Amino acid sequence: WKHAPRDFRALLETSRFHGDKIFLTYEDEHITYEEHFRRAATLARRLADEYGVVKGDRVAIAMRNYPEWVIAFSATLAIGAIAVPLNAWWTPQELEYGLSDSGATVLIADGERAARLTGLSPALIVTRGEVPEGARAFEDVMGEVEADVTLPPVDLSPEDPATIFYTSGTTGRPKGALGSHRNVGQSPMTVAYGMYRGAARAGRDPGETAGQRRVTLLTVPLFHVTGCFAVMTTTMFSGSGLVLMYKWDAGRALELIEREKITGLTGVPTNVWQLLSHPDLDKHDISSLNALGYGGAPAPPKLLERITEQLPSRAPSNGYGMTETTALAINNAGIDYLAKPDSIGLPMAVVEVKIADPLGDELPVGAVGELCLRGPNVILGYWNRPEATAETFVGGWLHTGDLARVDSEGFVFIVDRAKDMVIRGGENVYCAEVEAALFEHPAVDDAAVIGIPHDELGEEVGAVVRLSSPATAEELQAFLRERIAPFKVPVRFWVRDTELPRNPGGKILKTHLRREVLGS
Ligand code: ATP
Ligand code: MG
Repeated sequence: WKHAPRDFRALLETSRFHGDKIFLTYEDEHITYEEHFRRAATLARRLADEYGVVKGDRVAIAMRNYPEWVIAFSATLAIGAIAVPLNAWWTPQELEYGLSDSGATVLIADGERAARLTGLSPALIVTRGEVPEGARAFEDVMGEVEADVTLPPVDLSPEDPATIFYTSGTTGRPKGALGSHRNVGQSPMTVAYGMYRGAARAGRDPGETAGQRRVTLLTVPLFHVTGCFAVMTTTMFSGSGLVLMYKWDAGRALELIEREKITGLTGVPTNVWQLLSHPDLDKHDISSLNALGYGGAPAPPKLLERITEQLPSRAPSNGYGMTETTALAINNAGIDYLAKPDSIGLPMAVVEVKIADPLGDELPVGAVGELCLRGPNVILGYWNRPEATAETFVGGWLHTGDLARVDSEGFVFIVDRAKDMVIRGGENVYCAEVEAALFEHPAVDDAAVIGIPHDELGEEVGAVVRLSSPATAEELQAFLRERIAPFKVPVRFWVRDTELPRNPGGKILKTHLRREVLGS
């Protein structure tokens, strides 16, 4: 692993060798590798010279997936400052939390995000939209982009902090995950390893793309690690193409796959599910598409079945990762995935796995315990949260908060999130297991299992479902009783007509759902 780029500058400088090849495509705009380098280097100089940004300062980025996001990210890391990507879905209060928590001195935002800022903001640079008073337009800050621009000098070591990505906030308030230059530098190598292993397990030649240039469609936001590290930095390193979307839309994705001859799509399971369910699926020529990668949230085995049926020979893969592991840590692809569709697969070459009891001691093969991970992709800790850092990063191991088991061949199975369990009269009910069983029912299009407060049992099991055809609670219960133990079968069902609420990472917002159906 010594050969991984030691810092982001090495990665950026290497990417310049790809010259005139197109790196970023957004609608009708194309940015080559050389242009991206020049713009990033120019912005890096402006941030340093005009905004006084120095190594260790925080520069926040709040925008949709525009090319400027990538340029701002590259510029920030290139001067040793820390990029703080903020969630574009956040409300004004949440954006302000991100800004004050990180202590950012500069914010690079799109017009929509800039308009959301109500209180004080750091120095503001705005692209794609109205520039509020006191702020400057991105293009004005850039000024002229010189052909011979170079990166300003800065001394970086692999352990220097590079990014603060906020966790998705599924189990509490989002935490700032402090990633190092080593974390960023290793990301393309780790993902490439996953891709090459996946190709080998799918019986393909990893170097072969049937004469087509590799072009990836980014279906998830850049402000989460999947978008940034499983896709963007990996693309940048490899010289392939990246097509950006303002926001995810399955119909639009089908058009783009056809128009841009997309070869691979990387996102969350919901993206692929919606693509397969789209009425226009057969109306587009999507023959260029040969790889479907997803992860970041549980992927029901039914998804794999549907891909195999509807889009055969598309090499699906399921990756497990966290903000704290700089995206990908474990993945399942090819014949392995077909053989064990409910597994997240094998760890990446650099990642070590331990299943631990509550004291952190390793459990034997097959036992369910907390999934712990170690490797160069594990972040430095949480920004400004010494207690959470001490709790989560113990003796070099990251405690993921996920319950898992490993089989005799080393395959990892996520059982549930430790915080997503329903404890019914002292019995643990893993929501993920009940959801997977529900997904097997042909009428179930989506499902979320939640705990219902119960005086005697503590909690009872409930489920919110979205149905594609009518089914009664009794029918669903009878169906589940054939598959899971009776105490795990939901006693109550809520049917929703609209899509279940999800965050941009594809995870169901259970706190919202609970509030909606239980009022608590
Ligand atoms: P927070 O930590 O703020 O509560 P979060 O854990 O959802 O939010 P992320 O870092 O985006 O924030 O998500 C990591 C989590 O996503 C993992 O801990 C795991 O529970 C889940 N996850 C990721 N990939 C997979 C996968 N392939 N299958 C099942 N679960 C997954
Ligand atoms: Mg988490």
